[in-house]
Amino acid sequence: MHQIETHIRNIPDFPKPGIQFKDITPLVKNPTILRLAVHQLIHPFMGDDITAVAGMESRGFIFGSLAAWELGLGFVPLRKPGKLPYDVQSISYDLEYGSAELEIHTDALNENDKVLLVDDLIATGGTASASCELIEQLGARVMACAFVIELDSLKGREKLSKYEVHSLIHY
Ligand code: AMP
Repeated sequence: MHQIETHIRNIPDFPKPGIQFKDITPLVKNPTILRLAVHQLIHPFMGDDITAVAGMESRGFIFGSLAAWELGLGFVPLRKPGKLPYDVQSISYDLEYGSAELEIHTDALNENDKVLLVDDLIATGGTASASCELIEQLGARVMACAFVIELDSLKGREKLSKYEVHSLIHY
């Protein structure tokens, strides 16, 4: 884990004052560390009966796609509004200031699916809990949520108390 942590760069006051932004670009650029992080991310779920991996735009696409590839599964993108071309299901959720929206194709998942949700980071948990709700609105089941980074002080895990939550690096 130490090797992964040393490839996460802290950028103070980005994108606004007071935010300690966790930059994963050094991690994803290093092939050994990227592989290690993806393997650690999926390790607890290797024997599970998962049918799909879902990830949120944008950095969830990087880790989610690789996790899906390693598990031999397909990837389902949860996107910002107006990006998906077919019929969509949408959800709005509150941010610290204002609100955000995510969309999923209505035929992306169904009641037979058991989904692993993947993102780079969990902060307040708003994005991940909205994503779980969206997945459930299509009738699918969320088996677990996996993150490379968890910001413990923001207690995002509490919003996901219904689910198994796996994080590699805690700040
Ligand atoms: P939240 O909904 O508060 O859990 O925020 C999680 C989403 O915002 C994730 O998709 C992260 O990529 C992004 N995010 C939130 N806080 C940070 C941070 N300090 N550094 C990098 N990304 C962050």
